[in-house]
Amino acid sequence: MKNDKIQEIIDQCLNQFPCTVDVRYDEPMKNHTTFKVGGLADCMLCPDGEGFTSFCKELLNRAEDTDIPVFVLGGGANIVVSDNGIRGIVLDTGLWKTESLLKMSEEEFVFKSGTVVDKAVELSAAEGLGGLEFLAGMPGTIGGAVWMNARCYGGEIADVLSWAEIICKEQGSYVVKRISAGQGFGYKLSPFQKMDCLIINAAFKLKKDDKEKLLSVIAKYRKDRQEKGHYLFPCAGSVFKNNHDFGKPTGQLIDEIGLKGYKIGGAQIAPFHGNIIINTGNASAKDIRSLVDDVAEKVKTATGFVLEPEIIFAGQW
Ligand SMILES: Cc1cc2nc3c(=O)[nH]c(=O)nc-3n(C[C@H](O)[C@H](O)[C@H](O)COP(=O)(O)OP(=O)(O)OC[C@H]3O[C@@H](n4cnc5c(N)ncnc54)[C@H](O)[C@@H]3O)c2cc1C
Repeated sequence: MKNDKIQEIIDQCLNQFPCTVDVRYDEPMKNHTTFKVGGLADCMLCPDGEGFTSFCKELLNRAEDTDIPVFVLGGGANIVVSDNGIRGIVLDTGLWKTESLLKMSEEEFVFKSGTVVDKAVELSAAEGLGGLEFLAGMPGTIGGAVWMNARCYGGEIADVLSWAEIICKEQGSYVVKRISAGQGFGYKLSPFQKMDCLIINAAFKLKKDDKEKLLSVIAKYRKDRQEKGHYLFPCAGSVFKNNHDFGKPTGQLIDEIGLKGYKIGGAQIAPFHGNIIINTGNASAKDIRSLVDDVAEKVKTATGFVLEPEIIFAGQW
C-alpha cells in the first residue's frame, strides 16, 4: 500500500488533533508478536498522550474513507501474523499505558488499553484490591484481554469488567462510546469482536482484600505458568479452544493421538503441552498455520471432533 497515502492521513489527523505518534514504515511484525513470526506491516503507528482518543477516532474515520485497512495491536500474544505481513496501518496501543490506578467509584478502577495485563494485576494488588489476580503472568494488554474475554484459573474478564470505552462505527462513522459489561460474552467471546472497534479504556470491579493474600495468589499463578513451560519458547498460549463435548481438555485429546512433539518446519506441538505450538527458532507463520491445520485434520480423523483455533491469523494470508 502506498505509504504517501498513509502519511497524508496521519498528517491530517495530527494537524487536527496533535498528539505524540511514533510512525514506522515496513515494520517487521515478528518483533511485535510473542510467536516471533510475521512479515512487514506497511505502517505501524504508536500514538500516545492526551490526544490519543481524538487522534485515533479521526484516523479510523479517514482510513475508512480512503480504504486503508487498520489492524489494532495489543501485546501480540494471541496472533499469528502472516509472512506476507499486514497491509495498511497497524495501530499499536502499547504506549497507551496506566501507570497508577484511576479510581472511578468505590469499586471501579480504570486501565488504559495498552497496559500490560500483569502490570494491572500488580498495580491492583499493591493497593490491596482484588479481582484481577486470575490474570497473573498472562502475556498481553488490557485491551487484548477484554477483546478476547481472556480466561484462566477459573476466572474470565467478563466476571470483573464494569465497562469499556471504545471507538466504534455507528451510522457510517467512528464515534466514542461507553459499553457496559453484560451481554455478548461467552467462552473466548466478547461483544467487541463483532463491533469493528478500538478499546481505549476498561473499568474493572475490584474489591478491598488482604494485600499479602493477593500477592501470594499472584505468585502461585506465575509459578504455575513457569512450571508448565509457558515462557520457554515463543508461542501464543493455547492454540485451540476447549470444548465440553470432547470430555477432556483439547491438549489431552491432541496428546492421546500421539502428536506431542510433532513438527512442521520450525513449528512444533510443545513436547510438554498438547495445546501449545512453539516456535523452535526458525518457524515461519506458514509453518505454524500448516501445523494448526494438520493437527485439526488428524484430530478429526482420529476422534471425529472439530477443533476451533483460539489464536487469530492476522494479515495477508
Ligand atoms: C505464554 C502464553 C500464555 C497464555 N495464556 C493464556 C491464558 O491462560 N488465557 C487466555 O485467555 N489467553 C492466554 N494467552 C493468550 C493471550 O495472552 C491473550 O489472548 C491476551 O488477552 C491477548 O492480548 P494481546 O494484548 O496480546 O492481544 P493481541 O494478540 O495483540 O490481539 C488479539 C486480538 O485482540 C484485538 N485487540 C487487541 N487490543 C485491542 C484493543 N485495544 N482494541 C480492540 N481490539 C484489540 C486484536 O486486534 C486481535 O484481534 C497466552 C499467551 C501466551 C503467549
